[in-house]
Amino acid sequence: MDRKVRDERVNHSPHAGQSPYRFPVRDLVRRPGARRENRDAFPLPEALGTDLIAVPEGATVQLDVSCEVVTDGIWVSGSFQGEAIGECGRCLDEVRRMVDVTFQGLFLYPDAPLGEDEDSDDVFVFDGETIDVEEVVRDAVVTSMPFTPLCAPDCQGLCDQCGARLADNPGHAHEVLDPRWAALQSVQDQSVKDRNERSDEKES
Ligand SMILES: [Zn+2]
Ligand SMILES: [Zn+2]
Repeated sequence: MDRKVRDERVNHSPHAGQSPYRFPVRDLVRRPGARRENRDAFPLPEALGTDLIAVPEGATVQLDVSCEVVTDGIWVSGSFQGEAIGECGRCLDEVRRMVDVTFQGLFLYPDAPLGEDEDSDDVFVFDGETIDVEEVVRDAVVTSMPFTPLCAPDCQGLCDQCGARLADNPGHAHEVLDPRWAALQSVQDQSVKDRNERSDEKES
């Protein structure tokens, strides 16, 4: 790594020069019962969330990670907080919501016997030196996001004729039908009628 890149990342203390999701644990391994807590706030290196709503890159987030040495590896648990920004699925207004999730996972030593837990989502294998919690945190954050973000649970969305936001326009309605729409409608009706008549002729 060249000097310039290293300097830019120097703020990620105590992870200078490294991803803020990575924790050196070389001094902890093989010492069952040993534990360590890390609390860290940092600018998010890459957006976390879904296409519709995510904690944006650069947002300040809080990551607390606790590492506890167990027989076959390190049990990791922790929490993540940050603010997600997205778009209301009905009216397209900006949606902001606090993300506050917990996560956990078992990081097995490379030589640990793989048991029945091997296939579990919460079990990972690591190199015995550094724990990387990015995947665990990402999964927890993505799972906590709403499938359709809404600015309010009862958001009424937009008028399907003019796009006005209905919550800002109580009683909004279009009572007068634009004559151009009426003309289009009658053309459409006529073509449907023509089609029906043609298919009737075919059948008879
Ligand atoms: Zn909305
Ligand atoms: Zn309208």
